[in-house]
Amino acid sequence: MAKKKRPGRRKHIPQRTCVGCRTVQPKRQMVRIVRSPEGVRVDETGKAAGRGAYLCRRRSCWETALKRRALDHALRTTLTDAERKMLRAYAQELPQELPGEEEEEHSTRSAEQVEQEA
Ligand SMILES: [Zn+2]
Repeated sequence: MAKKKRPGRRKHIPQRTCVGCRTVQPKRQMVRIVRSPEGVRVDETGKAAGRGAYLCRRRSCWETALKRRALDHALRTTLTDAERKMLRAYAQELPQELPGEEEEEHSTRSAEQVEQEA
C-alpha cells in the first residue's frame, strides 16, 4: 500500500526561503551558499555537500543577509571577513532587482501593480 496519488497536483517545484528577504522562491531562481569544510562559499551547482542557505539573485537580499548576519545564523557559523568580502563581491555581480521584472518598461501595467502587500 501507501502510494497516494493526488490527481490534479501541479508539477513539484522545489522552493526555498531567502535568508535575506524571507520570501519563498523557486529554488532554481536562487543562489545557494554552502558551508563546506573549506569554508563558506557560493555553491553554483546547488549540490555541494554541507549546510546550505539560499538567497535571491538580487543584490539587496545579499546585503540584508550580510548586514543582519542572517547567513551566519542559517549556516550556523560565523562568516570570516574574507568570506563576507567574497559574498559581497559576488553580490555586486547580481542585479539590484530580480530579473524579468523590469524587462519591458513600456509594457502596459496598471499603477495598482506596485508591490504592496497589506
Ligand atoms: Zn531575497
